[in-house]
Amino acid sequence: MTIATAASAAYIVAALLFILALAGLSRHETARSGNTFGVAGMALALVATIGLAVDGEIGVLNLALLAVAIVIGAAIGLHRAAKVEMTGMPELIALLHSFVGLAAVLVGWNGYLHVEADLSGSEALLLSAGDMLGIHSAEVFIGVFIGAVTFTGSIVAYLKLSAKIRSSPLTLPGKNLLNLGALAVFAVLTAWFVIDPQLWLLIVVTVLALALGWHLVASIGGGDMPVVVSMLNSYSGWAAAAAGFLLENDLLIVTGALVGSSGAYLSYIMCRAMNRSFLSVIAGGFGIEAGPAQDKEYGEHRETSAESVAELLTGADTVIITPGYGMAVAQAQYGVAELTRTLRDRGVNVRFGIHPVAGRLPGHMNVLLAEARVPYDIVLEMDEINDDFTGTSVVLVIGANDTVNPAATDDPTSPIAGMPVLKVWEADQVIVFKRSMASGYAGVQNPLFFRDNSAMLFGDAKDRVEDILNAVRQLSTV
Ligand code: NDP
Repeated sequence: MTIATAASAAYIVAALLFILALAGLSRHETARSGNTFGVAGMALALVATIGLAVDGEIGVLNLALLAVAIVIGAAIGLHRAAKVEMTGMPELIALLHSFVGLAAVLVGWNGYLHVEADLSGSEALLLSAGDMLGIHSAEVFIGVFIGAVTFTGSIVAYLKLSAKIRSSPLTLPGKNLLNLGALAVFAVLTAWFVIDPQLWLLIVVTVLALALGWHLVASIGGGDMPVVVSMLNSYSGWAAAAAGFLLENDLLIVTGALVGSSGAYLSYIMCRAMNRSFLSVIAGGFGIEAGPAQDKEYGEHRETSAESVAELLTGADTVIITPGYGMAVAQAQYGVAELTRTLRDRGVNVRFGIHPVAGRLPGHMNVLLAEARVPYDIVLEMDEINDDFTGTSVVLVIGANDTVNPAATDDPTSPIAGMPVLKVWEADQVIVFKRSMASGYAGVQNPLFFRDNSAMLFGDAKDRVEDILNAVRQLSTV
């Protein structure tokens, strides 16, 4: 068996492992094995690709360069993965997507330099003989376009998510026309490049796509950022698939298509969960006219203490905990898990209500709760639990804000109007854990804090949960 045949077989196995990884990652119980399948698939793909390169006699110098690139890449990857906080994952993912985009641009340019820029070269002659030159030019052009949009779009997403630039949407006059105009120009230039592949056309499309990527994501407001992260994930998949066509690498095409389609589907699910139009978000906030954040007067809020909350909890029949970004920041999940165990041991029915965009990345809360060993069967999605708040004795809102904001359902002028939220206010008592009266990610005031059945428990969520645990234990010994 030749190395090329072995590599093709390895690619097929790797593609199957990636499919198993996606299937595994779709459920809590199988997520760990899904991850293992993904790692195994990627390791196999790397070994096969290196084998192919060696078989292609790329020379000692290129091989050494390959080794250096792998070592540097692996070292940076390991270092970042070990250091990153869970709350910093979306930024990191956005940054990684930008690398995929940049790689696709470089692969496209490389393809142009080897073929279209050197029409008397052996590769170009081979392609011309099979009437494939036009297809190659289209691959170059489209690959560079998708890659460049992904590159700058991901950088803007990174800057917004890490609060290095403001997360409010950029609203240039005629922004929708600008986006549509850029797409129309791209279509015309693609046809032109296929007929007459000139360097200046490639330069123009690169600059155009870099500007479009920047503008598309800059136009999207903070509340819609989760969808953007998953949409960029999808774009990076298509960019990788485009690079796969140019490099004639089947696995890259399959993997790119898997990432592209699963990212697009996730974006669609998230848009549905947030009551946003999928098309409007992928078109850079097309038609989303976010109203200005309103400074309404909601009255006075009420404060409570850890001891009072402990008494309330021990006397409760049913408790629902709705965690959010603040629980992740405070790393309060272990205390929350301990409190859950303690209350359940005392016969209180404790469950969790998870909003699809709670935290800063899809599945953020599920990962934290699983890490702290909260049983899966009491962790429910928003749709499964939203009708159960009525009749619930106590709701603990731990570091969540936008995802429990009644203005989304009650106030059509709110910037988050229409976003489905956890209806925590329908419970008998609501305790909100946060450090101040500051607003959440979307920058919108939350009328929940001022409702008669709400009380604020100020301070770091981890400290306050510990205080409640101590108070509950003391109550047990009395
Ligand atoms: P929010 O971001 O709306 O609010 C979090 C709250 O946590 C803040 O009000 C903050 O208040 C509080 N907080 C922060 N640190 C602590 C701490 N140490 N202890 C106690 N409280 C703390 O969170 P949600 O989870 O409700 O909503 C998520 C938001 O993020 C949504 O707007 C969503 O669209 C957006 N988003 C979601 C992504 C996803 O995929 N899940 C990705 C990107 C954005 P204070 O400062 O007063 O303590």
